[in-house]
Amino acid sequence: PPTMTVKELADSLGASAADVIRTLMQNGIMATINQQIDYDTAEIIASELGYETRLVVPQTDEEKLLAELEEEQKRVSKGVLQPRPPVITVMGHVDHGKTKLLDTIRKTNVVAGEAGGITQHIGAYQVEYQGRKITFLDTPGHEAFTAMRARGAQVTDIVVLVVAADDGVRPQTLEALAHARAANVPIVVAINKIDREGANPDRVKQQLSEQGLVPDDWGGDTPFIPVSALTGEGIQDLLSILLLVADMRELKADPTRLAEGTIIEAHLDPNQGPTATVLVQNGTLKPRDFVLVGSVTGRIRVMFDDKGQKLRKAEPSTPARIIGLEGVPEAGDKLLVVTDEKLAKQVALQRAKAAQAAALVSNRPASLEELFKNA
Ligand code: GDP
Ligand code: MG
Repeated sequence: PPTMTVKELADSLGASAADVIRTLMQNGIMATINQQIDYDTAEIIASELGYETRLVVPQTDEEKLLAELEEEQKRVSKGVLQPRPPVITVMGHVDHGKTKLLDTIRKTNVVAGEAGGITQHIGAYQVEYQGRKITFLDTPGHEAFTAMRARGAQVTDIVVLVVAADDGVRPQTLEALAHARAANVPIVVAINKIDREGANPDRVKQQLSEQGLVPDDWGGDTPFIPVSALTGEGIQDLLSILLLVADMRELKADPTRLAEGTIIEAHLDPNQGPTATVLVQNGTLKPRDFVLVGSVTGRIRVMFDDKGQKLRKAEPSTPARIIGLEGVPEAGDKLLVVTDEKLAKQVALQRAKAAQAAALVSNRPASLEELFKNA
C-alpha cells in the first residue's frame, strides 16, 4: 500500500511534526519523524487534526515511475521524429451538419473493399485522402471537449467549425469558436448546406469577421470552405485545406517510443468488459503492451480500428479500441505503456485513493451549523 513519512504528512498538511507524532501516539502508534505510515493511518491522523479535506497524496511513486519510464524510453526509442496525421475535431451549432459532414467524409473515403464491411462506431476514425491519413474525432459535445482540455488533454490539431449557410452564426457557433480559441489551434470554417435555398455564405463570412475570424480571401488568415455534406460538393477542397493547414504545423511524433495517448471514450461492454478508445499521440501501441491509464492498469488483449478490424499496431494519431483494461478509465485520461507493472499498479492505486479522497471532500456536509439549521 502507498505510504508516506511522518514528516511528509506534516509538511503536506502544513502541521507541525510534533502535532502529528502526538496524534499518532494518542492512537497507539509510536512513530518517529522519518518513519513510514500507510495512507489510511495518515488519513485518520489528518482527520483528527481537522485536516480531512486537505490530505495531499504524495506523488513519489508517480515520479519514480516517470523516471523509470524515461529510462526505458531512452533504451527502446531510436529518437526519430516522423510526420504524423493531423487530428481534427468538428464543432458547431446543433443541426448545422457535423454528423452528416463526418459521415460524408467517411463514406467518400472508405476503400471499396471495406464498403460492405461492418463499421464500428468508436468516436474517432481515420480516412485517407491523396494517399495521406487524416484522423477525425467524432464531434464530442463542447462540454466533453472542455472537460478534456481542463484535464490537460490536448488532442486536437485543427478545429473545423461548421456553420450552416442558411442559418448563419448561432450561439453554439460562438461557444465552439471560444473553445477552439482557448485550445489555441487553427480553425477552418466549413460553410455547410450550400445546396440549400437561402444559403448565404457571405453572411457567414460577415458574421464571423465581426468575431475576429476573418476569411483569407477577405485579407484574414482563416480558410472558409463552402461545402454540402448532402451532395458532397466542396468536401475534397475541405480535405485538401486540412492537409495544407496540417503541413504548416509540421506535426511529428516518434513511432519507436513506448506509446502514449489519450482516452477519447470508455465504457463497460457487457461481453468484452472495459473497453476504451485511445488516440495514440506518440510511440506505437501494440497488443500485449501493459498500460497505465489514469487509475486503471491492464494488459492489452486485443485492439480494433474504426472498422472493427483487428489492429496489430497503432502508430501516432491512430485511434484504437482497446480491450484488456482492469477497469473503465475516463475520457481525457492519459495512457502510458509501462514496463514496470508493479510500480504502475502502485501509481494507479495511489491515484484511485486520491480520487476517493476528492470524492470524500465533495460529499462532506457543509457544516454542523447548517445541519442543525435544517433539523
Ligand atoms: P449536427 O447536429 O450538427 O450533427 O447536424 P446533422 O449532421 O445531424 O444534420 C442536421 C440535419 O441537416 C440533418 O437532417 C442533415 O441531413 C441535414 N444536413 C446536413 N448537412 C446538410 C447539407 O449540406 N445540405 C442539406 N440540404 N442538408 C444537410
Ligand atoms: Mg450530430
